Amino acid sequence: MRIAVFQLIYAIALITTGCVEHDEFTQKQSIAGKQPESNTERLEELPDSLERYLITKGLTDVGSLDSTIHVALHYSTEHNFLGKPMYQGLKRCYLPCEVAIKLCNAQWYLKQQYPYYSIVVFDAVRPLSIQKNMWDELDMPASKKINYLAHPSDLSLHNYGAAVDVGIISNDGVLLNMGTAFDSFDSLSEPKWETHFLALKKLDTAAYKNRMVLRRVMLKAGFTAITSEWWHFNATDKSSAALKYLLIE
Ligand SMILES: [Zn+2]
Repeated sequence: MRIAVFQLIYAIALITTGCVEHDEFTQKQSIAGKQPESNTERLEELPDSLERYLITKGLTDVGSLDSTIHVALHYSTEHNFLGKPMYQGLKRCYLPCEVAIKLCNAQWYLKQQYPYYSIVVFDAVRPLSIQKNMWDELDMPASKKINYLAHPSDLSLHNYGAAVDVGIISNDGVLLNMGTAFDSFDSLSEPKWETHFLALKKLDTAAYKNRMVLRRVMLKAGFTAITSEWWHFNATDKSSAALKYLLIE
């Protein structure tokens, strides 16, 4: 019965958001806590803004599919490496429908094992024009910058909404310890050094285990991890993204 209710909620969500139903999605219903709003209704309320632009590009508000996924976009606040808001106050996580569904599946897998945990999204789609601003404003030699930010001429999967930066948050609002903060430039944040730092006790066991939980559910949902940032997951590769998704300029 519980599954049937979720199926119904998702069927409504898919119709109202314009998402095309995904094969896997019918098998793994996430936990939708509210009736989704349609993008068309949202457009009527929105002034000229980044959010309006993302909707007109056909992106899906993840919250309309699963309201239990937390969204805390650091580039909408001053809590980022540039120290100032870059996203015009955007509060919602917009992604191509297929990627949004993958994220809902990751949340579903996480909730199955840890009902008191939730995925929290730190960054999702990142328009290319904003990435250019970030590149220009980051005061660092270019050779070092490319470790943290794709060069604007070398598109990032974030520019298609085909990558997400995520962590885990508990029901009482506490971020799980991952060893470093999101967007830390410290090598401690790089998965390729995890076992090294674990052996040196610079990365504690709890943080390592939390990273494994996050990675396991994201990979199970179809994302891939990278070796340089614990928070970053790709939904596909660049050539597939260019074919399947719109570049958000
Ligand atoms: Zn990222």
